[in-house]
Amino acid sequence: MERTKCLIIGSGPAGYTAAIYASRANLSPIEYSGMQPGGQLTQTTEVENFPGYPQGVDGNQMMMDLREQAERFGTDIRDGEIVKVDFSKAPYVCTAEDGTEIAADTVIIATGASAKYLGLDDERKYNGQGVSACATCDGFFYRKKTVAVVGGGDTACEDALYLSGLAKKVYLIVRKPFLRASQVMQQRVRERENIEILFEHNTVGLYGENGVEGAHLVKRKGEPDEEMVDIQIDGFFLAIGHKPNTDIFREWLDMDETGYLKKIDGTPRTKLPGVFVAGDCADPVYRQAISAAGSGCQAAIEAERYLLNK
Ligand code: NDP
Repeated sequence: MERTKCLIIGSGPAGYTAAIYASRANLSPIEYSGMQPGGQLTQTTEVENFPGYPQGVDGNQMMMDLREQAERFGTDIRDGEIVKVDFSKAPYVCTAEDGTEIAADTVIIATGASAKYLGLDDERKYNGQGVSACATCDGFFYRKKTVAVVGGGDTACEDALYLSGLAKKVYLIVRKPFLRASQVMQQRVRERENIEILFEHNTVGLYGENGVEGAHLVKRKGEPDEEMVDIQIDGFFLAIGHKPNTDIFREWLDMDETGYLKKIDGTPRTKLPGVFVAGDCADPVYRQAISAAGSGCQAAIEAERYLLNK
């Protein structure tokens, strides 16, 4: 069994920032990147709100830079997943997908969150055949075609804008009579000619012979003037929020009903000594790259102090 002073699980802005701090503090951390190295920002286009990039920065590029920075100070980054943890006693034993077992004095959980689906059978049926939760990954396949994006938040607006640059037409399917996104994103979406916003519409199914050819929607569901509406589309993109990737910790740590890990008094500490949390897996409120990076820094400092005091 391997032994480490600090194991970091996850490789978004939180995980990489924790790795930069932990490695600079001589903790020789091991970091498992998880299913999606670089995390959610690798699925976005331009990041415009991370301080220090006046012209914005490509999400993938930013994550590659963070990784390089973490490696520069000696973080042992491994592209793989931690699939099981045993937090019954310290050192905490964490098992990777290839069976590698690591005993860690401290663990920083920065596993992030994953895209949510509506839960329709048709989403599974057409998965990879017109259904996607990543506009920037799959948008390319829909050049000059018609697509729909579901959701009314910043992600949905960002995805709709991105797709409108490729596709002929983009429907934005919003269940409420208004968008939840920030004003600047709302304005950009409204100004884009080939985006049509369908307010108060819910998707109930998809249809098509070989892949998605359209979606069945219900307008003003449950109201007296409820109406069925079909739209012809080639691609159906989900942008309705995320679920924290915390299932493997359920047995050991406290979490809210959605699965967000609970912190003690706003610190990165959990109820287990030496186990810390950072980033979106413990943040249902802010969920920003910069706040994730900040919490990664805090978690690493906490880990360092914990080891010092021990
Ligand atoms: P949000 O939780 O902000 O928005 C989710 C959207 O999906 C809401 O409009 C919600 O509707 C809708 N929705 C949820 N479930 C369903 C469902 N079952 N059927 C139909 N619609 C549904 O998630 P985002 O991913 O958009 O954003 C997450 C966070 O990240 C936010 O804080 C956001 O500001 C931030 N972000 C910032 C960006 C930027 O600044 N460039 C880019 C992307 C994200 P309803 O409103 O009715 O609840």
